[in-house]
Amino acid sequence: MKKLRYVLLFLIVLIVGGYFYLIQDFSKTSSLIIYNGTIITMENQADKPEAIFVKDGVIQMVGSKADVMQLKESNTEMIDLQGKTLMPGFIDPHTHPLVSALLIDMVDVSGFTHKSPEEVWAHLAKEVRKFEPGTWVFCRGLDPILTKNLASPHISKLDSIAPNNPLFIFAQTLHNYWANSLAFKAVGVTAQTKDPSKTSFYEKDAQGKLTGMIVEQAAMTAFKTRIFEEIGQKKLIKNLAMVMDNYAKAGNTTIVTTGLTTFKKNIIKLCEHFSSEKPTLFGQGLATLNIFPDRKPAVRHFVYVRHDAQHLLPDSPQNGDDFFKIVGVKYWYDGSPLAGSMYMRKPYFMSRLTRESIRINSGHRGKYLIRPTQMVKIIENLQKKGWQIATHAHGDQAIDDVLWAYETANKKATVKEFRHRLEHCMLLNEQNLKRMNTLNMTPSFHINFIYYYGDALKNDILGIERANRILKANTAFKNQVNPSLHADQPMYDSDPFSLMATAVNRKTKEGEAIGPQEMITVWQALQTMTINAAWQVKMENKIGSIKKGKYGDFVVLDQNPLKVDKASLRNIKILRTIVHGNTVFQK
Ligand SMILES: [Zn+2]
Repeated sequence: MKKLRYVLLFLIVLIVGGYFYLIQDFSKTSSLIIYNGTIITMENQADKPEAIFVKDGVIQMVGSKADVMQLKESNTEMIDLQGKTLMPGFIDPHTHPLVSALLIDMVDVSGFTHKSPEEVWAHLAKEVRKFEPGTWVFCRGLDPILTKNLASPHISKLDSIAPNNPLFIFAQTLHNYWANSLAFKAVGVTAQTKDPSKTSFYEKDAQGKLTGMIVEQAAMTAFKTRIFEEIGQKKLIKNLAMVMDNYAKAGNTTIVTTGLTTFKKNIIKLCEHFSSEKPTLFGQGLATLNIFPDRKPAVRHFVYVRHDAQHLLPDSPQNGDDFFKIVGVKYWYDGSPLAGSMYMRKPYFMSRLTRESIRINSGHRGKYLIRPTQMVKIIENLQKKGWQIATHAHGDQAIDDVLWAYETANKKATVKEFRHRLEHCMLLNEQNLKRMNTLNMTPSFHINFIYYYGDALKNDILGIERANRILKANTAFKNQVNPSLHADQPMYDSDPFSLMATAVNRKTKEGEAIGPQEMITVWQALQTMTINAAWQVKMENKIGSIKKGKYGDFVVLDQNPLKVDKASLRNIKILRTIVHGNTVFQK
């Protein structure tokens, strides 16, 4: 009798456990019919299918309503588009979910919110008073460009605003940072501390005293560890869950993290827990203990680990599944035009902004963060193991160097299968696009620099002639290198229509044209965020368009982007996002 009770108990555990396992297997979904609206397949612009049938997350039929309806099963979910537009879900090809989670509830000192320096500092002072003395105050988005006439704050100013709290501020570009005296003290950095390099350092004045500014990432490592500690694991996990939801809300069905900001295996496990097809034992265990959140269908996630976190690379690129996978390694070859660290052939334009806010001298043209010969070794090494590389390269000199490194590394080998990427590509010219085509490389453009910073690039940083040659999306299409567009969240929010609107209209927020010859069509813009971005992570046979055999990743829009006036592309709203047949967002 007692034995029977144990058997029963065992069976119950098995059934309940099995049930949870099954409902959390994101590939097991009931069937789906989508009909009664415009369907843009991104296969062929002339396609006009009426309906789609999806089963277990895979598209089984794209065709006439009559044919599709014949496949209807008793439990098929019917999605009536009511005349709205359906297209493949968007793929954010370059984003930073973990940094977004870190920044999401920091004090906002950005130029998107504050128009004058007075406003910035008054807001910060008010916020600081809400913190207990001794606790850290973190701020995000300080921006000497969008906030006109904002000078780089001196450490004495930061001390006067936060005399009793360690204070740390991220620049909008994430290439510069500022800290007050208590913050430097807390992490043990003094004026005597050795700078990590010539390009990443703690800025000092003529007397050798800290000015409060920290330039580029290596010098902020000590602070970064502290920030993670202060925010705490619980908060970070909660924030990351929110960030993942926001990607779906923005119409993304896949995100690509280009340099996951972590050295910890558990963070990889956490990301895997959010997105992978089946629950892992580790993730499930932590979810039971309420350390990880419960699983629910989420966006697909492909990850490039940071160059300095390669211990996180699995044994081979054949890891994970089509929901979560580590695909390569991210390197930074130069910095940002807004920080004076973009590496150019010719010097920066000299203006009050470059002199006083960005603080560079005449003749300055930025510098590489990696020696070109070192880059060759990096490429050879990673290619040997089959890894794809994504390299941050903004300036024309940086791009020249990186392409030289690829050509040198591949004199003998073939590079066809790698699809190495260049990120941001502000001054990528036609000649280099041709080289990229030969190398089978692909660019992702930081296109909203035009919209938000076009004015400053033109008048203060690059000069008119050079500013008109930035972000050559049209020339990239002509050279068949499968370009994509990105927001680089948290730089700008992940918002596909904002990016596509900029690529199509090539106008600043104030309405000024920047390099109009580089406008692309709406169809091309849609390609950048779907099939091209899929190609960049070698998923073009599974996602990025609506086709029999591909995954059921869709987005429902309130208007047809191919029909609206292209000036109003930015206003199209996301109504519903579906990943693998599972609705992950609905308005
Ligand atoms: Zn980035």
